[in-house]
Amino acid sequence: GSLLSAEQLRKAYGPTAALDGAEFSIHPGEVVAVMGPSGSGKSTLLHCLAGIVTPDSGTITYNGHELSAMSDSQRSALRRSDFGFVFQFGQLVPELTCVENVALPLRLNGGSRKEAERAALTWMERLEVDDLRKKRPSEVSGGQGQRVAVARSLVTNPRVLFADEPTGALDSLNGERVMELLTDAARSTNAAVVLVTHEARVAAYSDREVVVRDGKSRDMERAV
Ligand code: ADP
Ligand code: ADP
Repeated sequence: GSLLSAEQLRKAYGPTAALDGAEFSIHPGEVVAVMGPSGSGKSTLLHCLAGIVTPDSGTITYNGHELSAMSDSQRSALRRSDFGFVFQFGQLVPELTCVENVALPLRLNGGSRKEAERAALTWMERLEVDDLRKKRPSEVSGGQGQRVAVARSLVTNPRVLFADEPTGALDSLNGERVMELLTDAARSTNAAVVLVTHEARVAAYSDREVVVRDGKSRDMERAV
């Protein structure tokens, strides 16, 4: 069965229907690209699936549990334990070194500095940024910073990785490298990846595409 699914999602901001009957589902280990023009509802769909935005109606089911039946604190606990996030701009903490940034989610979950940084370095090696461990985010390039952000998103072994335009601020060469490393790393841990992008060459790294238009979604079988 699917790990995360949504049915008939509706979400309005005032008179604007951001989502108008959107559907979604993803299996463990699957990479699904959410595509569509700017303003079509992609980010709203991602935020609903991640339990950050509450839809006006519709159901979201994660691992057999309905998100709307959970309390806010249960949903935040779920986000910390089971979900990882990567955004367009890495959003690394500028005062921390790269290894401290990657270790941060484990530290926030109560892990010791030594264990957290050991796990962080393992992920940094996989993302080929372990040599940057002592640098601050301001001292690394955009592509390197995004690879550090991907390492940070995976360090807790999430079951679902939410990536919102993860290569949006990168040139195509760096963007492709980030996508290669991100999808390899996620597949190796059987994490599902919800990848929001408006770029076809980024969506090419997915197993399947869901196209959002005017708040409605449509599943596209990849014709490969
Ligand atoms: P996309 O990610 O495809 O660009 P969004 O989900 O960000 O689309 O937005 C869908 C629509 O909902 C747009 O018209 C956007 O302006 C509107 N919208 C999204 N978030 C908000 C918000 N917090 N407040 C008001 N309008 C919003
Ligand atoms: P994206 O590029 O990922 O679609 P946006 O730049 O459209 O993101 O939106 C950034 C943030 O602002 C999101 O949290 C979104 O929900 C919110 N937002 C988008 N459109 C509006 C809007 N018209 N009014 C208020 N907030 C909005």
